[in-house]
Amino acid sequence: RIITAAPASKQEEVIERALRPKQLDEYVGQEKIRAQLEIFITAARMRSEALDHTLLFGPPGLGKTTLAHIIAREMGVNLRQTSGPVLERPGDLAAILTNLEANDVLFIDEIHRLSPVVEEILYPALEDYQIDIMIGEGPAARSVKLDLQPFTLVGATTRAGMLTNPLRDRFGIVARLEFYTADELTKIVTRSAALLGAPIDIDGAREIAKRARGTPRIANRLLRRVRDFAEVKHDGQISKEVADAALRMLDVDGLGFDLMDRKLLEAVLYKFGGGPVGVDNLAAAIGEERDTIEDVLEPFLIQQGFLQRTPRGRIATPSAYQHFGLTLPTSGVV
Ligand code: ADP
Repeated sequence: RIITAAPASKQEEVIERALRPKQLDEYVGQEKIRAQLEIFITAARMRSEALDHTLLFGPPGLGKTTLAHIIAREMGVNLRQTSGPVLERPGDLAAILTNLEANDVLFIDEIHRLSPVVEEILYPALEDYQIDIMIGEGPAARSVKLDLQPFTLVGATTRAGMLTNPLRDRFGIVARLEFYTADELTKIVTRSAALLGAPIDIDGAREIAKRARGTPRIANRLLRRVRDFAEVKHDGQISKEVADAALRMLDVDGLGFDLMDRKLLEAVLYKFGGGPVGVDNLAAAIGEERDTIEDVLEPFLIQQGFLQRTPRGRIATPSAYQHFGLTLPTSGVV
């Protein structure tokens, strides 16, 4: 599947790491966030202080992890990386926190999935660079305060709404990543192709960019599939025609939608009379996780004006029916 949230395999992770821009000025797009970070990072460096805690949110594959690495590099500090579900016990987090050096970056991916007991020890760490840990067991147990080095938490989440209020309030910098434009993705595809040594012309890059759901991870993934196709079926050169043929073979349509999108919209239309339909019903109907629908499938369909999220549920818009060549129901559509 092309559009799934996370890197598909270990091998893909390795490739992603190789394609990751390392400096802020190599990071394409997200102009507002970049401009802000540049100022905050410069100021923090001038004062030799840790950067404020930073929350990055937005759909998967838009460059949150990349940005966390860039922040650490621009600050000239180490990055420690972990994720919400991995930190099961308070001790797991305490061990990481007590090993941080001054002004280091701690990157917690999927921070909305921290367990409440772990989140609890994060609060004083974020506010006062201190943690309370329990020593011993039973009646002899006592709580000890430990001082930490100043550090920066960079948290990443697909949806800011899933964070608890006290946690969200502790971030001084909150940045929402946007889908990328076709121009921005063309730059990314061109850069990645050069790094992979894949010959591509500008129209080939643009064709891939246009069909990448506004998402760098998907653009890079499509580029690699198109490169395979170009090497096996042609002379390796990626032109617009070759890209188009390869993407068609992968069932990625002209706007970047694939079979899952079609399945989702068909379900809204034919199983639920055009909507509104709740996300849980939709998930059951298409055999997909609710989270995948909300984090991965929906955001781009909504951004493109194909799907609407209303208080009563999801509704497919007339342009969605048109694009997918589906028949409009006679009633029930906005
Ligand atoms: P997220 O953490 O939001 O899921 P990542 O930071 O892992 O996304 O990005 C996925 C891939 O997309 C990375 O390998 C990187 O090469 C590429 N990428 C993301 N953002 C950019 C960007 N602004 N410029 C260039 N490449 C990017």
